[in-house]
Amino acid sequence: MVLTDKFGRSIHDLRISVTDRCNYRCVYCRTGTNGAAFAELPFADYLRMARILVSLGITKIRLTGGEPLLRKGIIDFVRELAKLRTVEGNKPEIALTTNGHLLAEIAQSLKDAGLNRVTVSMDAVDPQRFARITRVPNGFDSVLAGVRASRRAGLDPVKVNCVLLRGFNEDQIIPFGMFAREEGVVVRFIEFMPLEEDRVWTPETVVRLDEIVARMSEYRPLVEIERQQSETARRYRFGDGIGEIGIIAPVSHPFCGHCSRIRITSDGKLRTCLFSVLDHDLHELMRRGSSDEKLVEFIVKAVENKEERHHIGEPDFVPASRTMVHIGG
Ligand code: SAM
Repeated sequence: MVLTDKFGRSIHDLRISVTDRCNYRCVYCRTGTNGAAFAELPFADYLRMARILVSLGITKIRLTGGEPLLRKGIIDFVRELAKLRTVEGNKPEIALTTNGHLLAEIAQSLKDAGLNRVTVSMDAVDPQRFARITRVPNGFDSVLAGVRASRRAGLDPVKVNCVLLRGFNEDQIIPFGMFAREEGVVVRFIEFMPLEEDRVWTPETVVRLDEIVARMSEYRPLVEIERQQSETARRYRFGDGIGEIGIIAPVSHPFCGHCSRIRITSDGKLRTCLFSVLDHDLHELMRRGSSDEKLVEFIVKAVENKEERHHIGEPDFVPASRTMVHIGG
């Protein structure tokens, strides 16, 4: 069986948030005062959900948060996930999204446990600017060490995600181009979405794909790389073949029509869209002792009703019922 929604999209991509705590307080994400808002489950509960979802066609699992590396036991969890087998009989692809602060020391262990790839979030390559955005002093060196350790561990390709925010870091576009070339990582710029705690989003705060391409091209010509339909990022390499960047443009170039994702929040709710206004309480069913068959029924029905698309910037836009840090980015 393969999970499919009523618009014919097949769902094979799962994100699991293992905590909504974070050791960074990025200005565009969190208010700086709020901590965790939702519960964390024992890893065994996420594992049961993952096992069932993999039996329904999920082939890729990404661990996220909050900051997933704050959870003790994350390496063993990866090891358990790596024992699952997809419908085709393969190990699921396992990825991690992290701010990288605690990554350097455990990158190799994560790789050994079965992690395939890592994405590190980094919104400036200038250490002072980095500290202003994250509201944590001296974090930059730890994150850079995490990026380098991931490369050494073979968690390839290491991706570095940067959310651009007008007035904060759009001057980092070209420095990030240089960073991609020097560090051998794929830097991906993400358009800012209205999913923040502080409600600072306006259309003007978004640095859009066209502007990013234009600015980067002033540094060096870009050549677009062909991509698969389900890929969220538009990919470019520099004209001389050294370095790759990507742009994820949910605001200016939405890709909902090809969305293949669902999410589990740290407290075990199933979300079918980042912008869902309600979630499906999978964990409550488990707590009440439901069988796997009942959970399958519940999941299939929830996925069937996956939202068609987001409505960012439209007059009928209704904010999501949770902000990014509490969903799992
Ligand atoms: N703590 C981990 C990290 O920093 O990667 C995982 C969670 S974080 C919420 C996941 C990603 O979401 C980060 O790359 C972050 O920059 C991005 N993000 C947060 N708020 C966003 C927003 N409003 N629009 C676009 N991306 C956002």
